[in-house]
Amino acid sequence: MDQHTHHPVQPGAENVVCSRCRKVAEGAPPTWTCSVENGRRHYFCDDCARANIRAIEGRLDSAWW
Ligand SMILES: [Zn+2]
Repeated sequence: MDQHTHHPVQPGAENVVCSRCRKVAEGAPPTWTCSVENGRRHYFCDDCARANIRAIEGRLDSAWW
């Protein structure tokens, strides 16, 4: 029998919310993109990251929000 290690959601565990579509994910999904702007972390889900990749790379300001 394999041993499976489960990681229950801990109180205070940081959930990641997509800055664009407000989708919520537990932890930090590797497919999501994290953009640090003005010391704040903005997360984008896979779909939104793909849609915004040009904007993210083109403008590092958050003026485009
Ligand atoms: Zn999204």
